Amino acid sequence: MFITFEGIEGSGKTTQAKLLYQWLIDSGKEALFTREPGGTPAAEEIREFILTEREEPFPENAELFLYMAARSFHVENFIKPALENGTTVISDRFSDATIAYQGFGRGIPVEKIEYLNSIATKGLKPNITFLIDIPVEEGLRRIKKRKLDRIEKEAVEFHQRVREGYLQIAKREPDRVVVIDGRKKVEEIFEIIKTTIERKADA
Ligand code: C5P
Ligand code: MG
Repeated sequence: MFITFEGIEGSGKTTQAKLLYQWLIDSGKEALFTREPGGTPAAEEIREFILTEREEPFPENAELFLYMAARSFHVENFIKPALENGTTVISDRFSDATIAYQGFGRGIPVEKIEYLNSIATKGLKPNITFLIDIPVEEGLRRIKKRKLDRIEKEAVEFHQRVREGYLQIAKREPDRVVVIDGRKKVEEIFEIIKTTIERKADA
């Protein structure tokens, strides 16, 4: 099973992804936790490159292609082999993030990103995606204390568009994407996630 977590900055998706990973391991399941951009040594180098601030302007298309390149390393060298072994893979972000950030956030046409995603993933889709939804002000307030990367520093309006983009993806694919209110308590959110996974496993 391939499970992904999505959401804007400060939504709490990483916390939930790690809780789920630990719960699966404690229940004796084969599971791996990974993230995007990243997940393999080469993809982590690309992550570093994308998120570093530099003097030279960063064209949105360069950003788009770098996310796709990182995703291709991740799918080919990490996710696919693990899934073929029967291991459950939990990823903190995946293809939907590019629709939300580079599509809705940066304004690159969504159909074009979908096409590139289909190449980068060779058609691999998550079985289930948890979208932890939170108002932008609340998310940004939560991350204020730590050092922000290049994209986290974007204007509030950018993050608004990203949030809206995620909600639209969820509306379009309600069978795959489960939206959870990120203002709920950590334990409450995790209960919803566990119930959803158990139901999916029984189906
Ligand atoms: O998940 P995390 O917040 O660690 O992601 C790292 C950074 O990459 C974030 O600033 C996020 O906004 C950005 N990102 C992006 N486009 C994607 C995926 C992540 O701009 N497709
Ligand atoms: Mg972040």
